[in-house]
Amino acid sequence: MEPRTRPGDVYPGEEGKSTKKRQTRSAAHRLIDFFDERGRDLPWRHTRDPYAIWISEVMLQQTQVRTVLPRYLSFLETFPNVESLAAAHVDRVLAQWSGLGYYRRARQLHAAAREIVARGAFPNTAADILTLPGIGPYTAAAVASIAFDEQVPVLDGNVERVLSRFLALAEDPKRSEVRRILLRQAAQMLTPERPGDGNQALMELGATICRPAQPSCDLCPLRSDCRGWQEPHRYPRPRQRRAVERLEMAIAVVEHVGRLLFFRRSEDAEIMPGLWELPMVESISAGKDLAARLATAYGGVWETGPVIANLRHTITFRDLRLEVRSACWSETIPKAESRFATPAEAKNFATSSIVGKVLGALGRDEG
Ligand code: SF4
Repeated sequence: MEPRTRPGDVYPGEEGKSTKKRQTRSAAHRLIDFFDERGRDLPWRHTRDPYAIWISEVMLQQTQVRTVLPRYLSFLETFPNVESLAAAHVDRVLAQWSGLGYYRRARQLHAAAREIVARGAFPNTAADILTLPGIGPYTAAAVASIAFDEQVPVLDGNVERVLSRFLALAEDPKRSEVRRILLRQAAQMLTPERPGDGNQALMELGATICRPAQPSCDLCPLRSDCRGWQEPHRYPRPRQRRAVERLEMAIAVVEHVGRLLFFRRSEDAEIMPGLWELPMVESISAGKDLAARLATAYGGVWETGPVIANLRHTITFRDLRLEVRSACWSETIPKAESRFATPAEAKNFATSSIVGKVLGALGRDEG
């Protein structure tokens, strides 16, 4: 690749350095400078504990940093090490995961913790970490490089975007041949002394500078070598998005002396498997009335009252319109595991994120 330096380029943090020194500093070292000077101060960046780093990496997948911050601290308070996580009942782990979504990650985390304890130590290479249940190449490389200084590059969505622009590659970064090119480039972006920080620097650059819309190329430590900076939006070419599916749902709030009725979703459910929910059924398109649909789904005899809230909720590609109604339920033989609980008690079991939203809208999200 032809480096394209322009006279007069000065990157943040390099203002005091001589022109010669700036031009000879490699992209990998400029990335490390950027990370040291402008990387966000996040709690998982203060530890070399592979367990804590692993938890943060799993939480951060598909979830924003500001959502993860309080959950990470609270999770580590409850499960401070791999032994405590392995010893916990999976329901407690799911309860701690509430609000982070993608609950399969929590189940896999729990299964992998058990495996690590059975093996006697946290594996210390990316290849060994990859053999744990539910851990993919990204997480294995992130943990091995950050906790154990292994010289192994990561490719997440941010890094794919940064390097596709850096190399002016429009092809889909998920294609295996493109992935190989990006991984090779990512490896060149690491310094032998600080591979974990190099990986984090690339991810940080994608999150804060080389953003999907309006990248701040003027502030980028890679601009002098970047082939795509003049037209960053061309790289990578946008993928076809899955069409959003809109669903109209009705939620029934059954209250008995301050306690609300919850049902547990099936372990085989496509979304939110095994979580506790307020009873919920599709509100249009089916021929039967709402009470009959609730009876079909949950058993018992139902009566539905007035609408008490209207909400929207998004789960992956599903846009849910939620109509919340008060309701009465007479138990005969329920079709799913059920329980009455106060909103405070519900915080101790694994509920779907919709539950928190409904309780908040009803002013019932008391601690
Ligand atoms: S110069 Fe611009 S397009 Fe290139 S890596 Fe930096 S922010 Fe991204």
